[in-house]
Amino acid sequence: MSASIRLLRCLKASRAFSAVTTEAAAQFPASLMRGSLPAQSDMKERGVHWVFLGCPGVGKGTYASRLSQLLGVPHIATGDLVREELASSGHFAQELADIVNKGKLVSDETIINLLSKRLESGAAKGESGFILDGFPRTIRQAEILDGVTNIDLVINLKLREDVLLEKCLGRRICSQCGGNFNVASIDIKEENGKPGIYMEPLLPPSNCASKLISRADDTEEVVKERLRVYQAMSQPVEEFYRSQGKLLEFHLPGGIPESWPKLLKALNLDDSHEKRSAAA
Ligand SMILES: [Zn+2]
Repeated sequence: MSASIRLLRCLKASRAFSAVTTEAAAQFPASLMRGSLPAQSDMKERGVHWVFLGCPGVGKGTYASRLSQLLGVPHIATGDLVREELASSGHFAQELADIVNKGKLVSDETIINLLSKRLESGAAKGESGFILDGFPRTIRQAEILDGVTNIDLVINLKLREDVLLEKCLGRRICSQCGGNFNVASIDIKEENGKPGIYMEPLLPPSNCASKLISRADDTEEVVKERLRVYQAMSQPVEEFYRSQGKLLEFHLPGGIPESWPKLLKALNLDDSHEKRSAAA
């Protein structure tokens, strides 16, 4: 029986801890199980259990990665897990290659298997907590996750759609070193009470400048379609967490220099940030 079917079966059987712990414990590390969660006061030791939502191009990988460094928890991006598995000789590599090569979406089962494996190996190395990026993507994934671990907070990163589109169209990759850059320079003035927004481009060093290429799928039509698909899929997931009172909507006010301190403030982390800056 596959791991995810076991997880699903547990979930259907009961949402009570006992039912979940007996079968799902084999799949999710014990330290992450809801039944063995420490009290709120031990939150620091347990590490945060956070989820990052946000459409492609919004920069959630950047913010998730910064926060994971600040909080000392792993940043687990399911896109990375898929790429790592594809590059390995792991159990799912061939199956994944078939799916990806046909342009199909990777199934919930496969994603959950990869995530379980990642959490287990992390727990074995003494990791605690996580920031998930790219998961859960569907309501079913959210329900399964909810059955095995207790998510503290879901941060939904938002950016004006016109700006988002421009940012996506401005993405460039260096064909030589693979570095990611963005040539879009956003400087929209305040208008009719709508706040302005300023975002600097992320320009390449001079040795990369002549080798920039854009991704074939970063055309206006494809980006718009990607955003439409994302909205349709993510809305039920957002609603799921909103109804649990766990959703924090964060509207990016600009680029990283402007957004980062405001995000920390929204997360009540501005203290630890200041301490760290002072120590550095
Ligand atoms: Zn380069």
